[in-house]
Amino acid sequence: MAVERTLSILKPDATRRNLTGRINAKFEEAGLRIIAQKRLQLSEAQAGAFYAVHKERPFYKDLVAFMTSGPVVVQVLEGDDAVAKNREIMGATNPANAAPGTIRKEFAESIEANSVHGSDSAENAATEIAFFFAGTEIVG
Ligand code: ADP
Ligand code: MG
Repeated sequence: MAVERTLSILKPDATRRNLTGRINAKFEEAGLRIIAQKRLQLSEAQAGAFYAVHKERPFYKDLVAFMTSGPVVVQVLEGDDAVAKNREIMGATNPANAAPGTIRKEFAESIEANSVHGSDSAENAATEIAFFFAGTEIVG
């Protein structure tokens, strides 16, 4: 297993309900280290650019509105197999399909307000990390 880095976002539904610490505990209990972290209010342009891959999807406009509806916490997680491990800890996109014990099963409000984002490949992780963090802000 290779040590990897992945981009994680605690979404506005999570910050609104004061769940930052409880979600971070899930990452740390699973062996992922939070090696960079900051709280941001995303602009419409930032959220739109981050989710540009979903531009043609029917939920894109609502997703951008949701992601700018309150603060987010953006993070870099590091550990063995971090990309896949984080997706496992997060659970399925739709909380109705998420496995017991996952973040989305325990905390998500809906398929849209599903508490966390996680990169879906090592390649996308590198792009997404660079979207939010300068190299000097990441301390492994
Ligand atoms: P994931 O976050 O699990 O990688 P996607 O990349 O497919 O899922 O979608 C990005 C985000 O868009 C989801 O986390 C969720 O907030 C939102 N989303 C996805 N599918 C839907 C949908 N059918 N209706 C509303 N929002 C959705
Ligand atoms: Mg995705």
